[in-house]
Amino acid sequence: MTPAEEAQRIFDLAGIESSAGKLVSHSPIDGKPIGRVTRGDPDSACARAAEAFEQWRLVPAPKRGEFVRILGNLLREAKPILAKLITLESGKILAESLGEVQEMIDICDFAVGLSRQLYGLTIASERPNHRMMEQWHPLGPVLVISAFNFPVAVWAWNAALALVCGNPVIWKPSEKTPLCAEAVMVLVRRASERFGGIPHGLVQLVQGERDVGEALVDDPRIAMVSATGSTAMGKAVGPRVAQRFGRVLLELGGNNATIVCPSADLELAARAILFSAAGTAGQRCTTLRRLIVHEGIADSLVERLRNLFASVKIGDPRDSDVLVGPLIDEAAFNAMKAVLGDQIERVDAVPGGFYVRPALVEVKAQEGPMLEETFAPILYVLRYREIDEAIALNNAVPQGLSSSIFTNDLREAELFMSAAGSDCGIANVNIGPSGAEIGGAFGGEKETGGGRESGSDSWRAYMRRQTNTINYGSDLPLAQGIRFDVAP
Ligand code: NAD
Repeated sequence: MTPAEEAQRIFDLAGIESSAGKLVSHSPIDGKPIGRVTRGDPDSACARAAEAFEQWRLVPAPKRGEFVRILGNLLREAKPILAKLITLESGKILAESLGEVQEMIDICDFAVGLSRQLYGLTIASERPNHRMMEQWHPLGPVLVISAFNFPVAVWAWNAALALVCGNPVIWKPSEKTPLCAEAVMVLVRRASERFGGIPHGLVQLVQGERDVGEALVDDPRIAMVSATGSTAMGKAVGPRVAQRFGRVLLELGGNNATIVCPSADLELAARAILFSAAGTAGQRCTTLRRLIVHEGIADSLVERLRNLFASVKIGDPRDSDVLVGPLIDEAAFNAMKAVLGDQIERVDAVPGGFYVRPALVEVKAQEGPMLEETFAPILYVLRYREIDEAIALNNAVPQGLSSSIFTNDLREAELFMSAAGSDCGIANVNIGPSGAEIGGAFGGEKETGGGRESGSDSWRAYMRRQTNTINYGSDLPLAQGIRFDVAP
């Protein structure tokens, strides 16, 4: 079945409207159109979200969690079909698409628990008969801008938390993967019916390109912008939101490294490196792009990796033995070619798609394109002598998302995770930099944007903190012992 035929079957089964509209979605599998969507109207979406906020913020948080619980259960039921659509529209292999939907389910579960745990502190007051406390209140409409490579999970990471925190959500998905977003909205509508109705405008989808994103970003009714995408996008969005004193959460590009030390289990390392470098055809923000290997083991590891890279099956991501699907489009292929030149190995898989063999490039110094994120499967390999030198190399790029070390030496592992170690938001030991769980806060430093979303206490970004001081006495002592009495 062609991707277009399979997509049509999914639309019919899932009740997705996709024949009208000016925005065309193409499958990277064969480069052909698979559906159309209609451009949204940012202004009316913001008006509706502002109205929905007035109601949703008053719904008790555990009740808001109930809506997210229903959505999570619908995602469980829809997992196989939604995963198929992700594969058709983003080109990732089915196993990874199923994993992406599982992430949505996981964050819904997390958010349901969270809806009963939006804790504030009580604080000792310095004044007699006074009490201090902190409350977390809903913030306002949250705009989620998402990238093509995680067409639905990023929305869920944000939306599940934002909703239990009492906020409406507007979603501006990638213009390359609009149909996956339409499919999720079908589930949202169903969840609303099962819940007994949610405020109109609580969860909205606004399709469009960059200009639609810009109009939403500039709207003062949007309290928070959570934007996932390239560093170039973040550099445009960050200052625009700051200018109107909005809140921003940026999840931008990565340029992730793994250090492999002499004591490492090379079998384990090689398997992890293959998944991290070649998985999702090198199109993850956490993709491994720089391998920093001790010179004593480099020859042996590089040989293993060359064999793995040569044998990995590349092709139609719907085939169960394929591990590497297509690049998203021709522009991605051209970006890879600009770096590799004639070294690029194009694979003849499905006509119309851009399929490449993951490349392993040995370099003597960390410079040039290695300092940038080329969103394609290119793994640079660099040798080191001393662990301090390896950590310095790990940190000597503008991005700071994910990193990892393979070692059985406790000192090296602890040093890597210490204040003098990796400067990234994520630092792993004996696993690759790619493939995070939802339980931890996700995000990175420097040009990755500094945002944290998903687990741990990331929920706080979606709420407004209020400090309360209550006087239950009959005197009025001032803080810091200040006296301000009118003379009798
Ligand atoms: P992109 O920056 O081209 O687009 C991302 C989204 O931003 C799209 O929805 C796009 O329409 C929108 N956009 C672009 N410019 C905008 C502007 N000026 N104002 C408002 N919206 C704008 O990214 P992409 O090619 O879809 O995705 C790949 C990039 O995303 C890579 O750099 C990757 O590392 C990054 N990414 C980061 C994370 C993370 O969590 N750190 C996760 C996934 C992807």
